[in-house]
Amino acid sequence: MDCLFCKIIAGEVPSHKVYEDEHAYAFLDIYPTSRGHTVVLPKEHITSFLEMSEEKTAELFASVNRIAKKVIAVTEAPGVNIGINNGLVAGQTVPHVHVHIIPRYENDGGGS
Ligand code: 5GP
Ligand code: ZN
Repeated sequence: MDCLFCKIIAGEVPSHKVYEDEHAYAFLDIYPTSRGHTVVLPKEHITSFLEMSEEKTAELFASVNRIAKKVIAVTEAPGVNIGINNGLVAGQTVPHVHVHIIPRYENDGGGS
């Protein structure tokens, strides 16, 4: 399968791995919005979040919760954005579901 994120999971494309478990793989974003910007993937290839079952979603977000706690413990960021760009028009550039964990810092432009 010609999917960049599947290649990252397989180790065919290098990444700075943050976390891995049975269901999920997480690495640092190559163009970080902020320090510690992490991307979490389900290991199974799926293009759209809207095609995921509730069970798979629960597995993915259990990992996201665990990883976000680690990222915040390391960065000591006072806030965090957690989200998905789903679909081309929403800014999804890689067609493999992924959740962004973006630590936010004072006056970094992320808040109001
Ligand atoms: P999207 O825009 O699809 O929501 O997010 C894709 C993210 O993957 C982007 O933030 C982009 O910087 C990141 N990305 C794209 N290619 C690579 C890569 O080869 N390595 C890493 N570490 N991140 C990547
Ligand atoms: Zn994939």
